[in-house]
Amino acid sequence: MNIILLGPQGSGKGTQAKMLAEKLGLTIVETGKILREIAETDHPWGRRIKDMQMRGVLVSDDILMAVLKETLSKPARRGYLFDGTPRNIVQYKLIKEVLEDRGEKIDKVVVLNISEEETIKRLSSRRTCLKCGRVYNLITSPPPEENKCECGGELSQRDDDFPEAIKKRLDAYKKSTSKVIEKAKNENVLIEIDGERAIDVIHEDIISKLEDRSSK
Ligand SMILES: [Zn+2]
Repeated sequence: MNIILLGPQGSGKGTQAKMLAEKLGLTIVETGKILREIAETDHPWGRRIKDMQMRGVLVSDDILMAVLKETLSKPARRGYLFDGTPRNIVQYKLIKEVLEDRGEKIDKVVVLNISEEETIKRLSSRRTCLKCGRVYNLITSPPPEENKCECGGELSQRDDDFPEAIKKRLDAYKKSTSKVIEKAKNENVLIEIDGERAIDVIHEDIISKLEDRSSK
């Protein structure tokens, strides 16, 4: 089974991806992480990826496709769980193509829904340590002492985590993923999940909805 997991920043997507992969025996394909790793090597794409990251642009589709092909050429456990990709409809089609080459398909697209208000609440509670870079969340993972990291460093709120910047990122996310969600709906593989509940409840809900549909 191959699953795509979508959700805005702050939706708990990373946590759900780990739980889901564990439960279903899936291999997580975290494109952002793979690209960051390649950028640090002397791989032929390394410099191009680093250059694009420096300019703050998304990695081009040709590189992403090549990276995906290489990643998916390694044996998976019982399928793949895509976390962080596709960001847009072009990437969705690319993943589909690569899978089809292997005689597989995208079985489900799971979307974690969370309101703008909740996203802002969660992300503006983030504090980053100025010394070691560790990230805390005042609500979900508070620091041991007010405004102090475990390492003793001072905590600060990044510019990225102020409401204005969060709203901007959220708009960009919605704009780029809306077509993916629409397409998944048309292909009858969309599962929408209320992401504003406890982690375990969300996990159980995803599992039961996956089972529900695959038994039909
Ligand atoms: Zn620290």
